Amino acid sequence: MELFKQTAAELSDKLRNKEISAVELAQDVLARTKAVEDKVQGYVTVTEDAALAAAKAVDDKRAAGEALSPLAGIPVAVKDNICTKGTLTTCASKMLYNFKPPYNATVVEKLAAHGAVITGKANMDEFAMGSSCENSAVHPTHNPHGLDRVPGGSSGGSAAIVAAGEAPLSLGSDTGGSIRQPASFCGVVGLKPTYGAVSRYGLIAFASSLDQIGPFARSIEDAAMLLDAITGHDPLHDSTSVKTPFEGSVRQNLNADVKGMKIGLPKEYFGAGVSDEVRENVMKAAETYKSLGAEVFEISLPLVEYALPVYYILSSAEASSNLARFDGVKYGYRAEGFEDLIDLYVKSRSEGFGAEVQRRIMLGTYVLSSGYYDAYYKKARAAQRKIKEEFAEAFRKCDVILTPVAPTTAYELGSKTASPIEMYAGDICTVSVNIAGLPGLVQPCGYDAAGLPVGMQLIGPRFGEQKLLNAGLAFEQASGLKNIIAAL
Ligand code: GLN
Repeated sequence: MELFKQTAAELSDKLRNKEISAVELAQDVLARTKAVEDKVQGYVTVTEDAALAAAKAVDDKRAAGEALSPLAGIPVAVKDNICTKGTLTTCASKMLYNFKPPYNATVVEKLAAHGAVITGKANMDEFAMGSSCENSAVHPTHNPHGLDRVPGGSSGGSAAIVAAGEAPLSLGSDTGGSIRQPASFCGVVGLKPTYGAVSRYGLIAFASSLDQIGPFARSIEDAAMLLDAITGHDPLHDSTSVKTPFEGSVRQNLNADVKGMKIGLPKEYFGAGVSDEVRENVMKAAETYKSLGAEVFEISLPLVEYALPVYYILSSAEASSNLARFDGVKYGYRAEGFEDLIDLYVKSRSEGFGAEVQRRIMLGTYVLSSGYYDAYYKKARAAQRKIKEEFAEAFRKCDVILTPVAPTTAYELGSKTASPIEMYAGDICTVSVNIAGLPGLVQPCGYDAAGLPVGMQLIGPRFGEQKLLNAGLAFEQASGLKNIIAAL
């Protein structure tokens, strides 16, 4: 029946009306996965048996007349840095090659409570550090729209799985763009929620003050559906989580009317470095908004110039501290043949972590060291405050901000691996959102000459998720760019 081609909202209706069963749906997406996974390699682990058992449990509940969530029976893939009890959670690292968490992340508990069917664990850059999924110690993932291209990163597996029809929904994490940039490269919707909107409990930390879990989907409505399920205050487990004003009600309040909506276009995001094809497609989206009655005007966010150094200093500093726990003693990889405790640490960490992770740990340790703390870390924190203020000021003038997501569309596998700096430069349009703790929505807005998807980014004020998704829905309806599945 090719159920894999349908959106989560369509499938949810069919399940509720008993036109299909959750087991049939799970079998269909698992068959699609078997057919395409050799080419895409989006997963680290496919949990076929557990998925079928979860689907059967949903069917049994429905047969017994229980009231179920719209997500009940819907397949969802989960990024491999989100803890799943008893199921491998590797962060795509040799360091955690055998790690089976003894507990579930809060978002995984929430998915289970909603009856979502977890299909497996999605590939990623090791410890979420990277922009192309090529830092995975397991295997690279391929972009379903061009198999010689990267899917983006770090949540490249989560994006590719949804774009390839291997699941209608997935979860990723975003520290500096890791949901939004792969969503853009793979032609799907990706949302980085406001910092605090989703519990980080059980998300293996990269940079705790920037990390946030969020949904991937093939439509705005589907993204809203998954956001509604995962958001919420988690007082027992994450003291940075908060009660959001939209708490579980975004989907029911979706409204595609953007008449009078004020949309700012920051001129610094459209300048040199951004390819013509990306610029033109995002500007076309701006025209679409105008034709829908929105007020679109230029704004200025000059501090974006400092966003990359600020991000790479802060995120590496936090990573160097967070990753200290991987010492060869408590969990994961342990080197053989060590002489003493220090030798055990050094060998386990040198052999267990890949080159990019080691680079970040060294950079982070350096910027936090007593001689350089003031010059780097403290400066970066001061600049972070300025960037936050700059956005707050901009949101006094506009409801949302429209920008490109990345300077280019998906590039060829291997083309940037030799130059970490060039790879970091590609994060210019996404990192400020994390630095300022804001929500960011990405969705497809066109194609380049090679037929690869181009994405656009809408940035909102804190807890502006409803506004973002409303604006996203308006564009989705006007453009028809929805539910794009790679042919493969
Ligand atoms: N590409 C960025 C980095 O390498 C962002 C990663 C992320 O958001 N996890 O750090």
